[in-house]
Amino acid sequence: MTRTIAVTGAAGSIAYSLLFRLAAEASAEGERIRLRLLEIPAAVERLEGVRMELEDCAFPALEEIAYTADPEEAFAGVDAAFLVGSAPRRPGMDRADLLEANGRIFAEQGRALGAGAQPDARVVVVGNPANTNALIAAEHAQRAPRTDGGVLSADRFTALTRLDHNRALAQLAARTGASVESIERLAIWGNHSNTQFPDLGGAAVAGEPAMQVLARVCGGPDAAEAWVAGDFIPTVAGRGGAVIEARGASSAASAASAALDHLRDWTHGTRGRWVSMAVRSHGEYGVPAGLISSFPCVVDADGSARIVEGLELTGEQRSRIDASAAELEEERQTADHLGFL
Ligand code: NDP
Repeated sequence: MTRTIAVTGAAGSIAYSLLFRLAAEASAEGERIRLRLLEIPAAVERLEGVRMELEDCAFPALEEIAYTADPEEAFAGVDAAFLVGSAPRRPGMDRADLLEANGRIFAEQGRALGAGAQPDARVVVVGNPANTNALIAAEHAQRAPRTDGGVLSADRFTALTRLDHNRALAQLAARTGASVESIERLAIWGNHSNTQFPDLGGAAVAGEPAMQVLARVCGGPDAAEAWVAGDFIPTVAGRGGAVIEARGASSAASAASAALDHLRDWTHGTRGRWVSMAVRSHGEYGVPAGLISSFPCVVDADGSARIVEGLELTGEQRSRIDASAAELEEERQTADHLGFL
């Protein structure tokens, strides 16, 4: 089977890492893929260079590389789409200005996906503000007329919080001296923003409660709590800025790696392991229905993703989740006032 995968913002930094990793992984797995690259008209010519480089890698998986500035052409028949390109925040822009610039892009792309993508296509939004961009795209996909009479469900639109999840795994592994594979049940809740909640409440390190392991390495339960609130959470939430400061450029390779993790796990399953994905809420854990918010998710072997249910939350967990959900609700209201919902 050959999968057709679209990548927007394909001349940008994240895509420059993502496209080559995607083709290399597919080649290693013996898969076949067709790539559809989308850019704005001002950047589309650069995609000829990207196409040439992909060709020069002689990836066995790559059956076709096409590029365009037309979303309908890019998304026709796709099995998956990474929506990476988005309007950057410019000096003087407030959140409403950013949502307005992106609302146009994601409404148009949502319509094109709704009309032309496979009815079970998987959409991963990377471009910020990712959760609300995904919400806008999902909304417009529902309204798009399809020749087969179907609908690309809003549940097929997700946003990337896997980078936050991976950052949290790495921080906990470093502090406890454990390997990342030995960590389970860690979760990112809420918005891909500073209000996100990296949650160790249910996490385990080599089968032992993470807070217990931290109490041992930090010198007691209070010191462990202090490390989580004062170090772990701000480090994970502020890591993007720290990378920019250190590297002089944004965290493009790790964002691409996380986007690939997200789609791979959503397609092939997580074998019971939790991953963090921003998915449409149906009211779980008090997150208002319809918002695209990060939750701990598991994906079955058939590729169906579901939010982990039945977790008992403390007051502290509740209030952090509520705070991030409140920010998402504000973004939804702004998008609504701007006429995108
Ligand atoms: P990047 O490829 O570095 O980033 C693209 C988007 O991903 C940005 O919105 C960025 O958000 C977001 N992002 C999410 N997580 C991360 C992370 N961890 N680190 C960095 N970025 C993250 O941007 P470039 O400017 O290099 O490329 C963007 C490309 O998109 C350009 O070529 C532009 O022409 C194109 N574009 C395409 C559109 C389309 O296809 N219709 C529409 C608009 C732009 P943040 O801004 O918050 O860093």
